[in-house]
Amino acid sequence: MKRPVIRNKEEKKRRILECARRLTEIYPGAECALHWDNEPFKLMVLGRLSAQCTDARVNIVGKELFSKFPTARALAEADISEIEEIVRPCGLYKVKAQNIKDEMIMLTERFGGEMPRDMETLLEFPGVGRKIANLLRGDIFGLPAVVADTHCIRIAGRLGMYPEKSSDPLLTEAVLTELLPPEITSDFCHRIVLFGREYCSARSPRCSECPLSDICPKYREDNQQ
Ligand code: SF4
Repeated sequence: MKRPVIRNKEEKKRRILECARRLTEIYPGAECALHWDNEPFKLMVLGRLSAQCTDARVNIVGKELFSKFPTARALAEADISEIEEIVRPCGLYKVKAQNIKDEMIMLTERFGGEMPRDMETLLEFPGVGRKIANLLRGDIFGLPAVVADTHCIRIAGRLGMYPEKSSDPLLTEAVLTELLPPEITSDFCHRIVLFGREYCSARSPRCSECPLSDICPKYREDNQQ
């Protein structure tokens, strides 16, 4: 079924701001789901592990990894087979382990262990795409950052920001960057993850209990059938 997309930009903005306001009330903390202990290299590693893996599993694996290799340098110098063994439960373990080691070599050798904040520079790290680069910029540096993860892409579509079936993270990032005040983008995306887990899951959204149902085109459409 084709879902309605809100065409008017001002109306889109009004709705997404109302959505942001309500999510702030429901989830005032807006914390990152990954446990990076305020150590930037950990967030980069956890971000790499999170591809096609749950945050819960990533946090468990990350805890073991960082207890054995507690610094960026330790990971840069680690035997690749030892990293592989630990990160295996996250899937795609060979490429993830190699990316993690290479990232930490780059971080220590080229940047002296200091995480860069520039988007283009972050994208040069192995395995870092725009989603992770935005996560790093938003959480470490407090910069405007739309983290277009699977929850954000799905829910913004359901809320009529673009065709619901779109799975294009660049579109999500572009639309939300245009509509949201820059200073709330990073927290908004953390809240969307929490909201996606609690109410608006991919397979079984709890629309009848949802605090956004009155401003959700999908809900209205479904209930007109
Ligand atoms: S009403 Fe349903 S589809 Fe719309 S935001 Fe809420 S849970 Fe998601």
